[in-house]
Amino acid sequence: MNSQLPTWIKSPTPKHGFLCFLACLAVMVTLHAAENDSMNALAERYVKLVLALGQHDADYVDAYYGPAEWKKEAESTQRPLADIDRDAAAVATALVAAQPAQSAEEIVRLRHEYLTKQLSALRARVSMLGGKTLTFDEESKALYDAVAPTHTESEFDAVLAQLESRLPGQGSLSDRFDKFRSQFIIPKDRLDSTFKTAIDGCRSRTLAHMALPPGESFVVEYVTNKSWSGYNWYKGNYHSVIQVNTDLPIFADRAIDLACHEGYPGHHVYNLLLEKAFVRDREWVEFSVYPLRSPQSLIAEGSANYGIDIVFPKAERLQFERSVIFPAAGLNPAGVDDYYAVLSLVDRLSYAGNEAARRYLNGEIDSAAAARWLERYGLYSPPRAEQRMRFVDQYRSYVINYNLGKDMVARYVEERSNGGADAARRWDVFTSLLSSPRLPSGLTR
Ligand SMILES: [Zn+2]
Repeated sequence: MNSQLPTWIKSPTPKHGFLCFLACLAVMVTLHAAENDSMNALAERYVKLVLALGQHDADYVDAYYGPAEWKKEAESTQRPLADIDRDAAAVATALVAAQPAQSAEEIVRLRHEYLTKQLSALRARVSMLGGKTLTFDEESKALYDAVAPTHTESEFDAVLAQLESRLPGQGSLSDRFDKFRSQFIIPKDRLDSTFKTAIDGCRSRTLAHMALPPGESFVVEYVTNKSWSGYNWYKGNYHSVIQVNTDLPIFADRAIDLACHEGYPGHHVYNLLLEKAFVRDREWVEFSVYPLRSPQSLIAEGSANYGIDIVFPKAERLQFERSVIFPAAGLNPAGVDDYYAVLSLVDRLSYAGNEAARRYLNGEIDSAAAARWLERYGLYSPPRAEQRMRFVDQYRSYVINYNLGKDMVARYVEERSNGGADAARRWDVFTSLLSSPRLPSGLTR
């Protein structure tokens, strides 16, 4: 409420002035409602386009909980790619015409920008399915609204040298790391109980800072034969199905990582906050669909990864691993500090994964050479490198969403919370990012 009226609605006769004010207000409300209606109509066309494209790309529609008849219509119509692109171009033109004023509420401007960028990514995906080839960076820019920095072998060599001194011995460094890490495998018969313990830890810490809708829930399933290690399938109505892939042994650190990333405050929370803030409270239907190959994924993966650090600042994480997770997994807690010291170095090699994918997708090296690159510079074991290359074949430049996404979200949140030192503010900024339509290029403005 603002008691200072602008001069243009002040009048010498108070009664006339008040009537004028009411009339102006009525016009503004009507205009606003009309703008909202026209955006809602464009949003509906966008949702239907995403569902139509999902008929051409099985991974494309990650979540949908809007009207069931729209999905049935997409399935029965099977719109050709050219038809989808034509309609998407028409929606894009209409969006240009519907550009909100600079003075409009920020959320209204963000909504317009969100639809524009998500639609542009959809058109890029249509062109790729139609045979257009993009370089790794062109593709990530077109689909995820970001380009990952490039790194040279010598940058990774500097980190590898530090790991050499931490993990001395015979054989390749990646073999030694694999052997070291094998001490920290969660036994299969303890996996479910350890994972549930981790979920409890992530959930209680998240609830201490965020209000979540009553009844929110997820179930956990264990699956095999996937290119990913975990997946959150958001079903709407504040409910998710989380799948954990057990093809390869699961290490102790993955319990907290997966519980936070897929659950609290990661994908489950992000999706339910979008459902609450937009689909339910504002009836903005575009948020009832989540196209995987779109800028929204960088925010989703980046916030899910950064959320791990928010929920468990380093010292608290080590303490929780020592006193709760390692005992739950039947592992010796004496190894926690050493394990995490090594992992923090290995984490600095994460961009090696982007380099392998970039070179491979740009046609500079083949799959076997990219796998060897992952082993050498990312310290992947051969089976993990093979799994990673299956992921790269399936999801391509999506790989940047994890590490670059995390770094971009971290920078955005920490710049607004005294470098992350103001813990309460850090949670507030993080929570409002999860409940906003902000996309990657909007993080750096
Ligand atoms: Zn994820």
